[in-house]
Amino acid sequence: MRDEKSILIALGGNAFQAKGEAGTPENYWRNAYSAAETIVKIIKEGYKVVITHGNGPQVGAILEWMDSLSDKIPPMTMDIAGAMTQGWLGYLLMQAIYNTLLKYDVLDHIKGVIALVNQVLVDRDDPAWRNPTKYVGRYYSREEAYRLSKTKNWVMKEDPRGGWRRVVPSPDPKRNIESQAIKRLLEDGWIIIASGGGGIPVVRENKSIKGVEAVIDKDLASEVLATELKVGKFVILTDVDGVYLNYGKPNQTKLNRVTVSQIEKYYSEGYFKPGSMGPKVLAAIRFIKNGGVASMIGHLDDGYNVVKGFSGTLIVPDD
Ligand code: ADP
Ligand code: MG
Repeated sequence: MRDEKSILIALGGNAFQAKGEAGTPENYWRNAYSAAETIVKIIKEGYKVVITHGNGPQVGAILEWMDSLSDKIPPMTMDIAGAMTQGWLGYLLMQAIYNTLLKYDVLDHIKGVIALVNQVLVDRDDPAWRNPTKYVGRYYSREEAYRLSKTKNWVMKEDPRGGWRRVVPSPDPKRNIESQAIKRLLEDGWIIIASGGGGIPVVRENKSIKGVEAVIDKDLASEVLATELKVGKFVILTDVDGVYLNYGKPNQTKLNRVTVSQIEKYYSEGYFKPGSMGPKVLAAIRFIKNGGVASMIGHLDDGYNVVKGFSGTLIVPDD
């Protein structure tokens, strides 16, 4: 039996930086504190909580910093950049949640808050290696893109939003290397921030593991961790109030409560955009099929009600 009071919450980009907002430290802190309010409200209800988060804009910023200073400081590799974002964003959340627990006088009931650097295993044979799809870093002109493809062996693609960008593979996450430690911490009463940015992608090589130049989808990686921890509920908080059919069209309709078979059918019919809602729905489906009690997708600002099932989209096993 799964404990319905243990949950994994996957935070979207809006927990740090709203779309179109400048990425200043002030904005990062304000958004992190706002997310912390939601999380602490959930903790106060007696939930054991593991938090994961995305890192798209931040890893993009680090790549750009490295790129613009490459004549002075040797650039790091993408796996190292991913580790940097886990420290950066983990720190923000860790302190914001800690202070918010103090503010409401609930820190005494839990051990504390801990952010981890965390690796996720991907497969060497994943088809994604042959078809890189994930845009990372800055935009280049066609000429620069050509030069980079020759000098750095980067795969460059024209971005529909304009300009040329580097693309990297997005392999499917298989296993969270540190999940046993996370499980122990969770049972012991810690609030844990893990698998940031989908985790640092590693592959197995002989008798070791090794970081690779790739980006793991944070929603899919969150599901892998949620399943390994055997939490009861998997909650994805983002900047939209649920999953819609015909999203953005005049006839859009929100899904309030669906069974896994129903939403799987919609998924296979192409209702959900790859790269945004698609991976969230796929992760939600996988969690239920792997034995989870409920997956929910909703707005971060309404996170408490999403966890309670009063808001957002609730995905449940077939009756
Ligand atoms: P996050 O940082 O939380 O992962 P994303 O931008 O990746 O955020 O995904 C959330 C976005 O998905 C929403 O802002 C919305 O515009 C978009 N979206 C695409 N398709 C749908 C859909 N079918 N229903 C709801 N939102 C959708
Ligand atoms: Mg996303």
